[in-house]
Amino acid sequence: MPEIHLENVSKHYMEEGRTQYAVRDISLTVEQGEFVFLIGSSGAGKSTLLKLMGGEIVPDEGEVSLNGLNIARQIGPWRTRITRSFGIVNQECLLIRKRTIGDNLMLAAVAAGMRRKGRAAAGKALAIVGLSGVEDCYPAELSIGECRRVELARALVNSPPILLLDELTANLDDDNIWDLMHLLNELNSRGTTIVMATHASQYVNIMRRRVVTLVDGKLFGDVRNGKYGDIV
Ligand code: ADP
Repeated sequence: MPEIHLENVSKHYMEEGRTQYAVRDISLTVEQGEFVFLIGSSGAGKSTLLKLMGGEIVPDEGEVSLNGLNIARQIGPWRTRITRSFGIVNQECLLIRKRTIGDNLMLAAVAAGMRRKGRAAAGKALAIVGLSGVEDCYPAELSIGECRRVELARALVNSPPILLLDELTANLDDDNIWDLMHLLNELNSRGTTIVMATHASQYVNIMRRRVVTLVDGKLFGDVRNGKYGDIV
């Protein structure tokens, strides 16, 4: 089963001629079936870490591997296989506004290699997030909470073993956050690995899962059954 491993991983950017580390010397293992909250203030490196884990960006130093395979070194079908292991929700909404929800999910299904079974997979993913029947709607016709759930459905369309979620709960009210947390808990109890960057501190405290804390790009805390702010 997929295990994500980061070994002394750093990612930096040049800013006004100076090297700025977004993530610095992080070593971390996430085992299949874990539920990990990634926390830290804005700019701490959470999005960068998620992108490194999913192979969207490559580290400048160190290595990110999935099941022992260095992601950056995989090409062709091996790379595709790795990409399809991850369901990703980025901070920026990836739904195409001029396409229906059904089309948006179908595009994701085709990208995941499911052309023939795409519509059925899209319907199933929407049912999982409790939004059956919105296939013909456009994103603008849905509430923010519904849009976030559609984005989750988009990430779930090919039933990936790992979900990497960046601020899925941002700008949502308590009811919507709670619904999403319930849903994620259920997906996790069925075996899906979840790594989620969030600021929703009270929910992190209630759920008592693994809490990984970043400060200035460095690993500051990694606590099992943790709470927001735990560092040991
Ligand atoms: P967080 O998700 O915790 O808010 P980020 O991972 O987005 O943090 O960013 C960490 C740091 O890296 C920030 O200082 C940010 O400005 C910088 N950074 C991230 N991506 C880029 C990029 N593509 N180019 C330049 N700097 C970046």
